[in-house]
Amino acid sequence: MFIIIIIFVLGTICGSFAICYGWRFAHHYSILHPASFCENCHIPLKKYYLIPLIGFFIQKGHCTSCHASISTVSLVSEFLMGSYFTLLFLLNNTSPLHLVFTFGLVLWALILSAQDFYSLTVSHNFLLVGGSLLSVGKFANIHFYLADWSFSLLFIIILFLFSHFNLLGSGDVIYLTFLFLLLGFYTTLYIILIGSTSAALYHFIYAQNKIPFIPFLSFGLLVLLL
Ligand SMILES: [Zn+2]
Repeated sequence: MFIIIIIFVLGTICGSFAICYGWRFAHHYSILHPASFCENCHIPLKKYYLIPLIGFFIQKGHCTSCHASISTVSLVSEFLMGSYFTLLFLLNNTSPLHLVFTFGLVLWALILSAQDFYSLTVSHNFLLVGGSLLSVGKFANIHFYLADWSFSLLFIIILFLFSHFNLLGSGDVIYLTFLFLLLGFYTTLYIILIGSTSAALYHFIYAQNKIPFIPFLSFGLLVLLL
């Protein structure tokens, strides 16, 4: 039971960190400086206001200084990620090392999704460094995917052509290339299927011209990791 609580708390921290990183990236702030502050009056927040889930309720959903409402995006992300990490832990009977890799993959996907959600772009440095680190972590398993490398390569070339003609962002294509490498051809194909379908539904309902694609692909990734 104790380990489940730890995993849930870890998930809430990852959910909180991803939203914070994404918001700061979109508003050109460093992740380290300045310390967290109210988005409305810019007063620095007390340390215990930053505790995932609890901080929101301590502040009763409003800044204690200017009384502006606090966005619930972080709260929802913290709860969903705490629940998701717990579910992932309970449903996957794998080695601790593989679990660490999976949590790392989810956190990488979450941060990129938050960046794309807030700014319709992602940090290419974070995308490449994170993806490369995960690939090194997965290197021992890469021979499993040698059989579908030809398919993957063909698909990646097609995706880069899409990007060249501005039908897809370069960040989306690099993200998918890493997923092909990390998860193999067929799993990534399912991720694209779920991502495209959910993005199309969102576009149909909200009729926005430009929508971030990485959050939808990550949704597909999270479904398939379970
Ligand atoms: Zn304030």
